[in-house]
Amino acid sequence: MNAEIIAVGSELLLGQIVNTNAQFISKGLADIGVNVFYHTVAGDNQNRLTSVIQTAKSRSNLLIFTGGLGPTKDDLTKETVANVFQKELVHDEVSLTYITNYFLQTNREMTPNNKKQALIIKDSTILPNDNGMAPGMAFIHEDVTCILLPGPPSEMRPMFNKYAIPYLHSRLDVHTKLHSRVLRFFGIGESVLETKLQDLIEKQSNPTIAPLASEHEVTIRLTASHSDESTARKLLDDTEQEILKRAGSYLYGYDDDTLERQTLNTLQKHNLTVASAESLTGGLFSKAVTDLPGASSVYSGGVVVYSTALKQSMLRLPDTIVEKHGVVSIECAKWMAEEIRKQTKADYGISFTGVAGPEEQEEKPAGTVFIAISDKDQTSSFSLKLAGSRKSIREKTVKYGFRYLNQLVKKGQ
Ligand code: ATP
Repeated sequence: MNAEIIAVGSELLLGQIVNTNAQFISKGLADIGVNVFYHTVAGDNQNRLTSVIQTAKSRSNLLIFTGGLGPTKDDLTKETVANVFQKELVHDEVSLTYITNYFLQTNREMTPNNKKQALIIKDSTILPNDNGMAPGMAFIHEDVTCILLPGPPSEMRPMFNKYAIPYLHSRLDVHTKLHSRVLRFFGIGESVLETKLQDLIEKQSNPTIAPLASEHEVTIRLTASHSDESTARKLLDDTEQEILKRAGSYLYGYDDDTLERQTLNTLQKHNLTVASAESLTGGLFSKAVTDLPGASSVYSGGVVVYSTALKQSMLRLPDTIVEKHGVVSIECAKWMAEEIRKQTKADYGISFTGVAGPEEQEEKPAGTVFIAISDKDQTSSFSLKLAGSRKSIREKTVKYGFRYLNQLVKKGQ
């Protein structure tokens, strides 16, 4: 079955709202194994919507509309759909009673155009609107199935999940399901990873392999299509193994995992705490940890020591380190990590120092970064050469910090 999603509304064409309905419906259809080949947007104009529907029904056999079911004159989806499929519009008594009661209960005056919302395409199945007034509807005409949904996401989403999906399941031959797994990689660029996986990507069929770069990470979405869940899982497992043979050391998690969450979980699991001393990241690490619920159980706090003077006064950074190595150095990073750990009595101290750019500092180019992690037995240090803008260097630095901390805590336990 090939679906086309038709979003109706001039606001979409004017750029005033984003077509999130199409995204939501596409994801929902993928979950039940329906291919979506087209997303179309039409304004509130009968002629243009007519031609969109005619094109859609010639190339797709499931048309899902959102928007334009409301009471006003420019809401013309069902009128236009009825016209193209040569169907009548009739008043639905159940919907009319529902709408009338809604106005009575909310003490609002019902205007005549509200009655228009109870008009439905004759012989269609009504999809109730549990969160608004305009009902949705579904019908099959020759071999084309049409589903009409309201525009507001708060009405459309529950209606789609609760009524449209079961309608599709019951009426259509939707046996094959899509099963997805997201592999999350850190510390490797998208193009390098793609090059390592080139042969697999070229011969992919089932599962499909889709790399995607996002937020300083690379993800690979594997999607297997099969009616049987365990067979689909096996297809995913086999491909995952092949991928891990080539790039396994960069894999850090699956699906909704994040580096930050994983690190927090590891610390929580072992009942350990961390404190931070940040220079080039200016508190970004602290923010990232405290963004997570449950942070207080593992994070005792931290300092932002941006200037050399503050590093010296707050963290007692010795003059010898400043003079001999500078503040952008492994020695400085190590001192900061040890000192913050001792001062706060946390189990781990983590520090960040480096050059965020764009100018160089201490004759070291932008992207020179040192991270140190100290525990009671030892202090580990990491030097990085990062590329990108000031913003991206700082953000990547924090991600590396989480990655290293997670690895060290795991190793130490
Ligand atoms: P109503 O009964 O509220 O008039 P409707 O079915 O006629 O609903 P529209 O008038 O087309 O829907 O849109 C109502 C609101 O729904 C829009 O102002 C917008 O906020 C939201 N909306 C409509 N279409 C989309 C879409 N494709 N993606 C996200 N939001 C949308």
